[in-house]
Amino acid sequence: MTAPQFTAPYINGHTIDVQDSALTPVVNPANGKTVAKVFMAGPEHMTRAIDAAYAVKDVWGNTTPSERELILIRAADVLESMRMEVVNLLIDEGGATFGKSQFEVSYVVGVLRSAAGECRRILGHTIPCDIPGRISIAIRRPLGVVGGIAPFNFPLILAVKKVAFALAAGNTFVLKPSEETSLVGLKIAEIFEKAGLPAGVLNVVTGDGPTLGPVLCADPRVKAIMFTGSTAVGRSIAVDCAKAGKKVDLEMGGKSPLLVLKDANLEYAVNTAAFGIFIHQGQICMAGSRVIVEESVYDKFLELFVAKAKTMQVGDPHDPHTVIGPLIRTAQCPFIADRIAAAKAQGARVLCGGTYEGNFFQPTVVADVTEDMKMFHEELFGPVVSVIKAKDADHAIKLANNSRYGLTSAVVTNDLQIAMRCAMELETGSVHINGSTIHDEPHGPFNSVKDSGPGREGGQWSMDELTQLKWVTIQRGEAHYPF
Ligand code: NAD
Repeated sequence: MTAPQFTAPYINGHTIDVQDSALTPVVNPANGKTVAKVFMAGPEHMTRAIDAAYAVKDVWGNTTPSERELILIRAADVLESMRMEVVNLLIDEGGATFGKSQFEVSYVVGVLRSAAGECRRILGHTIPCDIPGRISIAIRRPLGVVGGIAPFNFPLILAVKKVAFALAAGNTFVLKPSEETSLVGLKIAEIFEKAGLPAGVLNVVTGDGPTLGPVLCADPRVKAIMFTGSTAVGRSIAVDCAKAGKKVDLEMGGKSPLLVLKDANLEYAVNTAAFGIFIHQGQICMAGSRVIVEESVYDKFLELFVAKAKTMQVGDPHDPHTVIGPLIRTAQCPFIADRIAAAKAQGARVLCGGTYEGNFFQPTVVADVTEDMKMFHEELFGPVVSVIKAKDADHAIKLANNSRYGLTSAVVTNDLQIAMRCAMELETGSVHINGSTIHDEPHGPFNSVKDSGPGREGGQWSMDELTQLKWVTIQRGEAHYPF
């Protein structure tokens, strides 16, 4: 990996000066080696970053669409030109596999281009008015300073999706990346600096969530918080934002169901299920961690699924053939093993995997999981899938909806009637018919319900969240008043 250029918070156009002795090692989750060192900021650095973003909010908010568009397009080109450097960083800092990292970079190039396009589409409304001679319009204005808090699992996508649309809308930004992927967060600052973004418009503060997050949420100059992460943290951020009277957008945890119905092409269903749980070793909010299969095809599905799971290559994430790399958190492995053991004690069958070495958890299929088991309900964030038997399609929908989460769902069937019922009745922000639970596009309406949200991101939906609607009326001539 190329030595990272930025290793300290990026505030007002440069990284702050810090002593080498104050840096914290960044450990590669695959091999335990130190990748680089990074500075973990304190509350005062967060305040300085907000100062910087606040100082330039009016200047940036009054730039023309073409000025903002140009910087976002340039940022896409800069990222493309740094592709392999960023891919290697995603692998070495975040434990992503080569394929996942390539996907992440490509997706973010798309986010930047998509956000560039939105600069010219910040549309308002003209509204019919009952007062003679009065013109009534609604326009969209930037919010001002926006704060973003991002998780570790897609550190580039989930940060840039917030930053790019916020900048496109004319906001300035303070980003708090995950403490586990600080270098990726700082890489975003480097990319925008190279793209010519003026100082202060984007600031990146690396450090611990509980230390920095509350400062960002409490400061009245920050008008909105865009958060992606766990439900527990999201809920505490919602409380902090409510206390500060602040808008908050939350994209949180998931326990997404994939329904395999009796008419499904089982080989296709198996490939769909495998992609949904094994990509990034299951550390995805949209992971299809519950596969609900109709009784009549249950045994056959399991046979094919286990055979597929056994073909997944586990190991060096730099090897393009590797599917399962390391989990980023060492403590996640015993946690997952505990949940599997508990399910086993309650009658579930572990058909493959179930063990781990270091941070590498084997691809695991657990069959006969039922609603009374913890692993039916809890997000495990590992390459572990619960397979659940459903009596029929009605039962499958009921099982799917028995979750506190409501992020995504998917169904494999060619029965149009049932597919449409699933679309209407599954309690999730998106439903993918004959696709995986994992689907996102830069301009798509990514949203969530129940304990996964409420959140809205992507294209025009991000722009709605990141602008303030303002009603403006203009009277031609003079209005008549009753007194
Ligand atoms: P996390 O909640 O532990 O951390 C997310 C961010 O919150 C980090 O930057 C962290 O530093 C910060 N944070 C922690 N405590 C804070 C506090 N008190 N105040 C403010 N910020 C604080 O999440 P994670 O483990 O990094 O990511 C995994 C989780 O994210 C999973 O639950 C996953 O489902 C979820 N996720 C959701 C989506 C989605 O779009 N819905 C996408 C990716 C990940």
